[in-house]
Amino acid sequence: MITIQNFINGTYVPPKSGEYLPNYNPSTGAKYSVIPDSDSRDVEEAYLAASNAFDAWQKTSSEKRFIILNRIAELIDEQNDKLALSESIDQGKPLWLAKTEITRAAQNFRFFATAAMQFQSDSHAMEGHAINYTLKTPIGVVGCISPWNLPLYLLSWKIAPALATGNCVIAKPSEITPMTAFLLGEICNQAGLPKGVLNIVHGLGKKVGNDIVAHSKIKAISFTGGTNTGKHIATIAAPQFKKLSLELGGKNPNIIFADCDFEKAARETLRSSFLNQGEICLCGSRILIQRPIYNKFKAFLIEELKHYTIGDPLLKETQMGAIVSHEHFEKILAYIEIAKQEGGSILSGGQAVKPIGFENGWYIAPTVIENLSQNSRCNQEEIFGPVVTLTPFDSDEEALALANDSNYGLAASIWTENIKRAHSIASRISCGVVWINCWLLRDLRTPFGGMKQSGVGREGGWNAMNFFSEQKNVCVKL
Ligand code: NDP
Repeated sequence: MITIQNFINGTYVPPKSGEYLPNYNPSTGAKYSVIPDSDSRDVEEAYLAASNAFDAWQKTSSEKRFIILNRIAELIDEQNDKLALSESIDQGKPLWLAKTEITRAAQNFRFFATAAMQFQSDSHAMEGHAINYTLKTPIGVVGCISPWNLPLYLLSWKIAPALATGNCVIAKPSEITPMTAFLLGEICNQAGLPKGVLNIVHGLGKKVGNDIVAHSKIKAISFTGGTNTGKHIATIAAPQFKKLSLELGGKNPNIIFADCDFEKAARETLRSSFLNQGEICLCGSRILIQRPIYNKFKAFLIEELKHYTIGDPLLKETQMGAIVSHEHFEKILAYIEIAKQEGGSILSGGQAVKPIGFENGWYIAPTVIENLSQNSRCNQEEIFGPVVTLTPFDSDEEALALANDSNYGLAASIWTENIKRAHSIASRISCGVVWINCWLLRDLRTPFGGMKQSGVGREGGWNAMNFFSEQKNVCVKL
């Protein structure tokens, strides 16, 4: 049994409570590690370590910060096999997928390491009689809270820019997937990150996560997770005037026009529906298909899913692994029941599966549903699992109306060979990320975030660097 510890001031320490929570392997349902049940005392200890480290870290040259963050990236790459195995066991995702995500976590550190060297400020001349310049300084001690679906990738997406800009961090990974964050502490020590610059506190979101958000001296919170949690966090952070970045849920449409490259659109839709068991905020979960190709598209999905391999995440032929937790497994199955009650027809999947040798794990067959009304719960609420709905449409305007008829506005993908139509829909769709004839193609320089209930603010590139900086205008009269 592995005992995970908090990482505070460069050292692994037990929680003040002395209490631990169970951590399960979703592929077998067995408890395999325990994690600290931390509370406000651990947050205070982490805060003290971070605030003590802050002055030296903010004065550390950007070149030195680059060297350390780049070294973290190198070490993550060197330890890819070990980290990916840990992520796969902890989260339930296929090992081959975990390997690519660990690579992407290293890329986050490398990207923001170089950003530290390039971060610049503006100056503005006022017609010859004054000049303004902008000073950018780190905020101080910041909180980074991340979810369980892409554990190390999303944690690094936050802490790398926070550290690159000279802040000290208190991070809280999801209680359900703590393992790679635990291993990251050792990597940071190996890379020479000074003690106290990064502190990782484990435990329950509603307890220790809440304590981080409520702490009066933690001045900014970068949060990725569910919309309801984001709402709750905003009610605590806003009255304290904290900087807040919220990356929340999605109910993303894939809009498939009859003039698309059918093979590409259909294969990529399969991927965007079920990659990582559908547990990616960017997964397309509402598949809108133009009527002339509706039946052909549907038949393609049904046929492909007959051969989909679900099971042991460690096998290379596994396409879909286990659902992250028993609670989430039950939630997804409950949505499938709701879909049936709402009059939906299950075209594929629709039930739990028990792969041989993994009967106690939490697996759900990739599920495709049609005949649901636009205002049904399964077309409006985020399920965050391997469940997609199919809806036919006739015109561009109808597709756009269906796509925008959602409280969410995170991402969309548009499939058409008509370039005018693609740009027109992209400009009118209410979401933060639009892919045309592709999905999940990410450039770390681009703004990332959602509209409506999918979030507030943008991460990525200079957006993240600016979020973690205070900006001061200095005006000099000439
Ligand atoms: P949650 O909102 O449940 O949790 C996210 C993180 O917040 C976890 O670390 C959690 O800890 C913590 N947390 C929970 N309650 C509080 C609280 N009161 N105060 C502070 N922290 C808290 O989300 P999930 O982990 O279930 O992740 C899935 C959600 O994340 C989906 O809605 C998905 O769409 C969204 N997401 C959004 C992305 C985006 O970029 N927009 C990317 C990836 C996911 P604990 O686990 O211990 O409860």
